[in-house]
Amino acid sequence: MTIPNKPLPQPTELSRPYWEAAAEGRLIVQHCAVCDKPRHYPRLLCDACYADTVVWKPASGAGRVHSWTVAHHAFHPAFAADLPYTLVTVDLDAGVRALGLWRGVTPTIGQSVQGRFLLEAEAPELLFEPITD
Ligand SMILES: [Zn+2]
Repeated sequence: MTIPNKPLPQPTELSRPYWEAAAEGRLIVQHCAVCDKPRHYPRLLCDACYADTVVWKPASGAGRVHSWTVAHHAFHPAFAADLPYTLVTVDLDAGVRALGLWRGVTPTIGQSVQGRFLLEAEAPELLFEPITD
C-alpha cells in the first residue's frame, strides 16, 4: 500500500509571510497596523478595529501551555507512522495562541515552553519544548 505524502501548507497572500519566515526558522505574528492587536493564524481583518492593514512582527516562541492532547488516530494516512503524538496549544508571550507539536514527557497546563521550527520536514513544523522557570 502506498502511503500518501503529508498535506503541505498552501500559502495564500495573507499567510505567505508567515510560511516564508517559518521556512527560515523564524516565528512572526501578524499585527494590526492601526491598533497593533496581534492575531494568529493570519486573517484579513482585525477583530478589534476591522482594519485590513497589517505589519508582521517577530515573536520569540516563548509562552505557556494552554492545553494539550495526544493523537491516537490518524485522520490522514500520512500521519499514521507518527502515532501517538502530542499536540499543544500555547499562549505565546506575543499575545496569541499557537498550535504545535510536543515531544517528551506529558506537558502540564501553564508550563513554560519555548517554540522553534523543525525544518527537516517538507514544511516547517512548530515544536514546543519545556523550559524551566
Ligand atoms: Zn486593529
